[in-house]
Amino acid sequence: MSAIAYIRPEAKEIVISAKLWFYGTFAAPELVDKIVLEISSQYNEAQGKIQIRQTDGSIATYLIRFEIDSAVVSVDEVFDLVQNNTDYRNNYIRIEQDNILKRSFMGHELGGNIGHWLISDNLGESTTAAHEFGHSLGLDHPADVDLRARESPPPMMAPRGTLVKPKFQWNPTVNAGEFGGTMKPIYRKVCPEEVVQIFAGHTFSAEGTLNLGILNNLVYDEMGNPYYFIE
Ligand SMILES: [Zn+2]
Repeated sequence: MSAIAYIRPEAKEIVISAKLWFYGTFAAPELVDKIVLEISSQYNEAQGKIQIRQTDGSIATYLIRFEIDSAVVSVDEVFDLVQNNTDYRNNYIRIEQDNILKRSFMGHELGGNIGHWLISDNLGESTTAAHEFGHSLGLDHPADVDLRARESPPPMMAPRGTLVKPKFQWNPTVNAGEFGGTMKPIYRKVCPEEVVQIFAGHTFSAEGTLNLGILNNLVYDEMGNPYYFIE
């Protein structure tokens, strides 16, 4: 996903603002509302904070807050929107039954503003949407996927197959790594470190804004192949 982050010094907060435009056979308002609620509650409940140097030289702690907006549009409308887009807030996500990768994905690279998600991933009630949102903001899977020593819930960017304490497994009664002995995605929680990681290597402009992600600005067909535009 791409997004714009901006600093609000008076409120001591940083707002990450994104708009998700949904299209495709299964893009319906009720589903989209559920997806947006999952993403905003997951990322806001993490209460990520970063230190910002003020203009007077002092250091202050800022809370990172997410404002996610959404709309459902037709395929024709998406072509228009995408070809004219220069705003990092805007992301375009198709929701279908199936695609060439057999899973929900964002763009072709980390940070893209286009996605193709599958209705079979229980979007809005499985953490898949929140996980994909993290990828789109540049977050990768953690290097260590053996989290059996971790008492708290697995982080949002833990991939399928991650080893966890029995209480976070699909089946708590089997040994780690056996069938059912890996992380059940619903237990993932965005942790504050992941929210902070979004800003790694970035600098805000003098106006206090920051563009996050990449504008791919492409439209997917029903199976997740991108249309090519003539410039
Ligand atoms: Zn992933």
